[in-house]
Amino acid sequence: MAIYNFSAGPAVLPDVVIKQAQQELANWQDSGMSVMEMSHRGPEFMSIHEQAKQNLRELLNIPNNYHILFLQGGASQQFSMVPMNLAAMSNEVDYLHTGEWSKKAIAEAKKIAQVNIVANAEDKHFTYVPDFSTWTLNPHAAYLHITPNETIGGVEFYDLPQTGQVPIVADMSSTILSRPFDVSRFGLIYAGAQKNMGIAGLTTVIIREDLVGKAKAGTPAMMDYKVHADNDSMYNTPPAFSIYMAGLVFKWLQANGGLEAMAKLNLQKAKLVYDTIDASQDFYQSPVAISNRSWMNIPFTLHNNELDKPFLKGAEGRGLLQLKGHRSVGGMRASIYNAMPIEGVVALTQYMKEFQQQNG
Ligand SMILES: *Cc1c(COP(=O)(O)O)cnc(C)c1O
Repeated sequence: MAIYNFSAGPAVLPDVVIKQAQQELANWQDSGMSVMEMSHRGPEFMSIHEQAKQNLRELLNIPNNYHILFLQGGASQQFSMVPMNLAAMSNEVDYLHTGEWSKKAIAEAKKIAQVNIVANAEDKHFTYVPDFSTWTLNPHAAYLHITPNETIGGVEFYDLPQTGQVPIVADMSSTILSRPFDVSRFGLIYAGAQKNMGIAGLTTVIIREDLVGKAKAGTPAMMDYKVHADNDSMYNTPPAFSIYMAGLVFKWLQANGGLEAMAKLNLQKAKLVYDTIDASQDFYQSPVAISNRSWMNIPFTLHNNELDKPFLKGAEGRGLLQLKGHRSVGGMRASIYNAMPIEGVVALTQYMKEFQQQNG
């Protein structure tokens, strides 16, 4: 039986990536060493690191005036690093509040800077993104922080407001690489790798050069973008195996048409699930505003939550795993990142239809 893993993160990886890692695990390209055993300063790992950076730059079309940093600490560490590094110029920072992840980012920023919430979606339980026209942007803010895809709520937006000189900082943990976007519209982008980029342990930061070197005095070296940029992410031992895995994912993306092709496929996959929900006459419901429906994380509820358990049990019986919703939202959540094949989404929607027939 085929197994399809709908986990929100750590999440499914492309089959071929795992197979290649398996094949090379003990002996990377006749080096006689596993990537896990290599010196991070040796020529073998340096080439892995350089290639991964280069491939990511090509995939996302990252301009030359942006650094790519491969760090640790998860996206959660960026909740602190961003204000420690960028709020020194002005103590005022803007945050958009759209869900559980922006909530955590805001809580950390408040320890360091004066936080202005430009808009807050809590009034509708974080099921939408407030219209740009309602945002109270501060023209003197050091930056505006947004979460373009709230992984738990399944709320996504892609257009950006005009912020003048204020750089936009985005937590793209669960949406990066899912479709093309214009990096030059951002001052800083960060993402934990374990959703759409690889495995846990790696956090990628893409930062515009002029935003490096502005950390508050007294910022610890490990928390300072300049220290990492000056040392090409080799100030200390980088998460070597995680960088290697991300490199394999980047190559897989390039071999499969890059982000344009991913976007097409992701839209098709998401549409299959949303169409099933919408055609179910409220047997299944999506809590999210239609214009903010995420392509990557699709929460849905059953009209009768007593059916949740039987739904999940039946799903597991068919190899459809990790569909239980986040405890804060309830119901189900299907995460359908790049590595989820369309066959998995078809299997899910077929199951949803059959389950409805039997229980509707
Ligand atoms: C998963 C996630 C995080 C937290 O990532 P960690 O790497 O576990 O710290 C932060 N933001 C978003 C949007 C996420 O999806």
